[in-house]
Amino acid sequence: MKTIFVTGGAGFIGSALVRYLIKYTEYRVVNIDKLTYAGNLESLALVSSHPRYIFEQADIVDQKPIEGLFAKYQPQAILHLAAESHVDRSIDGPSAFIQTNVVGTMSLLEAARLYHKHSPEFRFIHVSTDEVYGSLGETGYFTETTAYDPHSPYSASKAASDHLVKAWFHTYGLPVIVTNCSNNYGPYQFPEKLIPTVILKSLRGEAIPVYGDGGAIRDWLYVDDHVRAILAALEKGQPGETYNIGTNAEKTTVQMVEAITTLLDELLPQSLYKPHKSLMQFVKDRPGHDRRYAIDASKIKNDLGWMPQESFETGMHKTVQWYLENNDWCEHILNGAYQLERQGVQL
Ligand code: NAD
Repeated sequence: MKTIFVTGGAGFIGSALVRYLIKYTEYRVVNIDKLTYAGNLESLALVSSHPRYIFEQADIVDQKPIEGLFAKYQPQAILHLAAESHVDRSIDGPSAFIQTNVVGTMSLLEAARLYHKHSPEFRFIHVSTDEVYGSLGETGYFTETTAYDPHSPYSASKAASDHLVKAWFHTYGLPVIVTNCSNNYGPYQFPEKLIPTVILKSLRGEAIPVYGDGGAIRDWLYVDDHVRAILAALEKGQPGETYNIGTNAEKTTVQMVEAITTLLDELLPQSLYKPHKSLMQFVKDRPGHDRRYAIDASKIKNDLGWMPQESFETGMHKTVQWYLENNDWCEHILNGAYQLERQGVQL
């Protein structure tokens, strides 16, 4: 049986990847996660007792224990997603971002380099973001050759990690592939991010905060489409290459809030807070807030045959519906129960 390492498998995208791998492939999956505030084992409840799923709590910064995991499980590949990922947190406290995203990635690369000497088929897939490219004007798209120009501590730390990964390819011949993806949305996303925030505030009749004039544009991708793109990179990608992932579903923040609140108006006809859009409130902009991100995904489409399967409308509908049906999952995060349970505290 072939084994895949997933780092950050208790996070938003990592847990979607682990659930997908268990459901649709034959791989044994070892989830390596430190369980920071963003790691939630409740997101893996559907697979946690599956015989092909293994959880290893570890910090990717600690190279020796990671080397031990390589020796123990002999993986075919590592899908590296573990990161500090929230831009606002990076502005308040950048050092954890440098530790995990930069130093942690280097430790993984070093452990992988030692392992690769005896396992030539091994692949290192580094999951990164379009934020490394900086901000676009009203036109144009990020391609794989766009110059890096990160503006936040988060995107700077991810840019640094991308450069390290490429350096390990050129210097040591480690077979790496980098993917740079646009904003993801879908079930199990931590409540501090835009889409769950809009839903949860709407359900409570609280103000929905929108940064600046609400005109920042992002290209939104349904999380399972990102998962399928990562697996296309793993199975068909060329070592040393970068693949951009996106869908051209460009929306301003205001358009996103409108899309979600319109769905809530339809799905919750009895709500006291209809029209939910009226809860929108503009707040001071985030420092260094990039205006527009947009991805040219033609390389991954042409070379690897990847295509998104969800439209913005179908993906948003699934997402909003999931949050309405899984209030417990959100509540356990908001009241801290998800962290107590993993420490063995009886609730
Ligand atoms: P997330 O914050 O939801 O999850 C991160 C996971 O990494 C958590 O489970 C956390 O416990 C774990 N982790 C953090 N530090 C660790 C450490 N030192 N050792 C081991 N585990 C650690 O993040 P996400 O939104 O799922 O993003 C996953 C990856 O995808 C990140 O690398 C991010 O940069 C990238 N990405 C995210 C988006 C997006 O829209 N969310 C878009 C493009 C790329």
